[in-house]
Amino acid sequence: MNKSSREVLTFEGGIHPSGDGKTLSSGSPIAVAPLLSKYQVVISENAGKPPKPVVKAGDLVKKYQLIAAADGFVSANLHAPTSGKVTGIVEVPGSMGIPVPAIEIEADGQDEAGETFPPIDWRNAAPADLLARIAAAGLVGMGGAAFPTHVKLSPPPEKKIDTLIFNGAECEPYLTADHRLMLEAPEQVLEGAAISGRILGVSNIYVGIEENKADAIEILGRRASEYGVKIAVLKVQYPQGSEKQLINAITGRKVPAGGLPMDAGCVVQNVGTAAATADAVVRGLPLVERVVTVTGEVVKKPGNWKLRIGTPVIRAIEFAGGVTEEPGKLILGGPMMGFAQKSFDVPVCKNTSGILLLPVSEALNYDPVGCIRCGRCVQGCPMHLTPCLLASAIEGERFDLAAQNHVMDCLECGSCAYVCPAHRPLVQHMRRAKAEIRKRKK
Ligand code: SF4
Ligand code: SF4
Repeated sequence: MNKSSREVLTFEGGIHPSGDGKTLSSGSPIAVAPLLSKYQVVISENAGKPPKPVVKAGDLVKKYQLIAAADGFVSANLHAPTSGKVTGIVEVPGSMGIPVPAIEIEADGQDEAGETFPPIDWRNAAPADLLARIAAAGLVGMGGAAFPTHVKLSPPPEKKIDTLIFNGAECEPYLTADHRLMLEAPEQVLEGAAISGRILGVSNIYVGIEENKADAIEILGRRASEYGVKIAVLKVQYPQGSEKQLINAITGRKVPAGGLPMDAGCVVQNVGTAAATADAVVRGLPLVERVVTVTGEVVKKPGNWKLRIGTPVIRAIEFAGGVTEEPGKLILGGPMMGFAQKSFDVPVCKNTSGILLLPVSEALNYDPVGCIRCGRCVQGCPMHLTPCLLASAIEGERFDLAAQNHVMDCLECGSCAYVCPAHRPLVQHMRRAKAEIRKRKK
């Protein structure tokens, strides 16, 4: 692809977070974390129904062995991240602030692999067999939502899908795990993208990458056509990697209000999920590890780590050399859409893209003041909502008004709160209203 003639795509709205923190870790190749003595695999880590444990205290397991089986269609298998003994189902801090059950495995230090799946010649395999493998391997969306991948790749027959998009935008500040994955495993990403395309019967396959990752654009671009994949170069703009914005930027289509990507003929997945797809199909491996960015100004050696699912966050921070000073805030994910954590013992899950430690100075909670009607939140909202008015309605418990004004279309991207000079807790308001409206509908 000729760089000078390459079109740079984007969506309307959004923001440009200043000082994105990516240089802290973008130059760090993916390092494989040492084996730990204990892993705690959260059972309810996929969106949908949690799987049912198939092991009990005292059982000996091998790496890749099934430890919890999907309970229904919208559920995902879980596999052992190493060999050892199951000590039981324990309560661990969950990423959403409440304790959750996890299968605890005491490692035996051998890391002995159990039976894996036979490799599939995906170019000649039936799509149904590929889909069954993805389900068996326990794949979920690794960009954040943790929606079971086999469900995403099974749209209802009435939804005609003609475009498959892989999100390599990684527009969240600080995070570089996807960037490194594209640089270091480009073939895996492309192969996983092509396999997913075969399952959906779609030949329009894109990997969308922001133009600040010129090296990834170049590396993936070299081999993309061999896999029938096109590289879409995207403007650096937040939240470029959000599904609806990605679809709009690449295809020009708009997902209707209250709709899903499939309503615009698209399926969107993350590049990490693409790599895991290739692992499952070509190498027969269940999903037991992922690349995670461990970063922040107070981390001694920020970098990207291949961490096993069930690794306590505190241990991942130790792999990165620990901290230079007491951190002010721990966030799982990026600073815009990630979730602040109370505990350093929260385990890494299949959708943990980043472990971010902010210094005390950046973690200060500003006292909000009244809205000054500057309109910045309206300009910055990628969904063309009016966050200031929505917030007023929600503060007055007028959830009906918030619903009429499309609060359910809010992406919780944080752009409005980021630009608000009054430091209003706009995202918290949106989250509260969405939860309340969902509750009232039940
Ligand atoms: S209202 Fe929602 S979608 Fe709009 S900027 Fe705020 S968080 Fe993002
Ligand atoms: S950005 Fe903040 S102060 Fe400005 S209009 Fe929106 S809510 Fe009000």
